[in-house]
Amino acid sequence: MFTVNLSGQVALVTGAGRGIGRAIAQGLADSGAVVAINDIDAASATMTAGIVQGEASVYPADVSDSAAVDRMIEKIVAEHGRLDIIINNAGVEPRASILEMTDADWHSAMNVNLSAAFYTSRAGGRVMKARGSGVIVNIASIAGHNIPIALRSGYVASKAGMIGFTRECAREFAAYGIRVNAVCPGVIETEMTAHLRQNVAQMQKWLEDIPQKRLGIPEDVVGLVLFLCSDASRYLTGQAINIDGGKVML
Ligand code: NAP
Repeated sequence: MFTVNLSGQVALVTGAGRGIGRAIAQGLADSGAVVAINDIDAASATMTAGIVQGEASVYPADVSDSAAVDRMIEKIVAEHGRLDIIINNAGVEPRASILEMTDADWHSAMNVNLSAAFYTSRAGGRVMKARGSGVIVNIASIAGHNIPIALRSGYVASKAGMIGFTRECAREFAAYGIRVNAVCPGVIETEMTAHLRQNVAQMQKWLEDIPQKRLGIPEDVVGLVLFLCSDASRYLTGQAINIDGGKVML
């Protein structure tokens, strides 16, 4: 497994109870970071903390609740003395046509996939600014880059917004020594995409457009995230990088 040296650093991963977030938490711990594991579901966050090798603590919270995010970041800093890395990974993918979508589904996509990154960046950015350094990685999606995905208007809009927010955040935070980038995965084998993978014909068509001819697994995303967290990417900010077996080439 690819690792970088993040010893002494404290990293928050949101939505790390399973899937891509859990794999990123493992990669950060393998790289020497102390990992603050967030999920809305305390039990799954605790399970991740039990699985990762290294120092990990659990911070259950709904990241779409700004006051809960403020409390969580305050607690992490109180317990660990610093916060160096934020991985905004928590996500939801409500599925409905625009004509059928409820307000609740629309707002859940916006609040969990986009507003949460604003809340963590605001609260965490204040902590990082005081140290003069920090890294934020936003897990967006190739869906944010004009890749059509049927019945996902809220998801697509929130991920496009995440890429826009990443750029503005990078511009504003560069003065404080904070780098902000987005990672845009293609289809990765997690619970979020289980329903997609059940549709064999649709998956066959999707795979035809992937030069590497396979879907991703959560571990495929980890190396890029670690690179973005490390000093090896010190001159890289405001980017939205696809990681999708070559499906989208911009
Ligand atoms: P996943 O398996 O569904 O995991 C998402 C995690 O986020 C779950 O543990 C979920 O907890 C948690 N979560 C949901 N709402 C939350 C909230 N309000 N506060 C805190 N935690 C919350 O999804 P994944 O596939 O690993 O996706 C991770 C990220 O990658 C998402 O942002 C997703 O949009 C993005 N992404 C995924 C793919 C893919 O193909 N899988 C592709 C592109 C981008 P509960 O289960 O308890 O709700």
